[in-house]
Amino acid sequence: MLNPTVVAIPVFALLIAVEAYLLIRENRENFDRKDTWSNIFIGFASVAWGALFGLVTSGFYLWAYEFAPYKMPMNAWWAWTILLFVDDFAYYWFHRFSHEIRFFWNFHVVHHSSNQYNLSVAVRQSWFSGVVHWIFYVPVAFLGFPFWAFVMMHGLNLIYQFWIHTKLVGKLGFMEKVFNTPSHHRVHHGVNNQYLDKNYAGIFIIWDKMFGTFTEETETPRYGIVKPLTTYNPLWINTHGWFEMFAAMKRQKTFRNKLRCIFGSPDMNF
Ligand SMILES: [Zn+2]
Ligand SMILES: [Zn+2]
Repeated sequence: MLNPTVVAIPVFALLIAVEAYLLIRENRENFDRKDTWSNIFIGFASVAWGALFGLVTSGFYLWAYEFAPYKMPMNAWWAWTILLFVDDFAYYWFHRFSHEIRFFWNFHVVHHSSNQYNLSVAVRQSWFSGVVHWIFYVPVAFLGFPFWAFVMMHGLNLIYQFWIHTKLVGKLGFMEKVFNTPSHHRVHHGVNNQYLDKNYAGIFIIWDKMFGTFTEETETPRYGIVKPLTTYNPLWINTHGWFEMFAAMKRQKTFRNKLRCIFGSPDMNF
């Protein structure tokens, strides 16, 4: 089955190139070419890794669908509308867990560790997040959405999230109230104190407003992670979180604190 994100790759490539041209024209010194190439490489490899993990985890999804008490009729428009919201709701929680629990953060940190903010950062995605991704989406299967429909909708959700990774689009009026926008997502990538752990939305910003994680963009965000990463090595970018976690565990005396290194917040200082 063709994943819609794969079809979107040429469009992504074109937009990344156009934005890079504009950013370089504006300020050549500020544009980190190495980081951009590293993001693009990580993006391609994450598609391959994702496909590999998908071979196994799609089995969990198909299995849960077998047990769904009601199967959604995917020839009805309303079933797609519900799927749009259900998938985006699952994304909100997947994303929130990915920030608030270190075990999950070790995957997601890849997406946040670039020190710049441009469209190439959108494709800088964890290679190994397929290990945990399914946990949040198996319930979607249990609600009766077949795998092919989920892949389509989830792909569209990720495509939507591409264009919000830019500094070149300002605030968008009414759209800011309902949708996730470049402004809202800049906040999400900001390490300014008031921006930490905010705006987890995929398509709809309403989830953040409902669950108390919404913040408006007021001051200019600083990008990256709290302890900035200085490497362009894609393998280290994908694995450093684990080494730091194991080092933190080793320093702990009690078993309870060792567990807190895994399941506690990533910003807990040990
Ligand atoms: Zn995030
Ligand atoms: Zn992002």
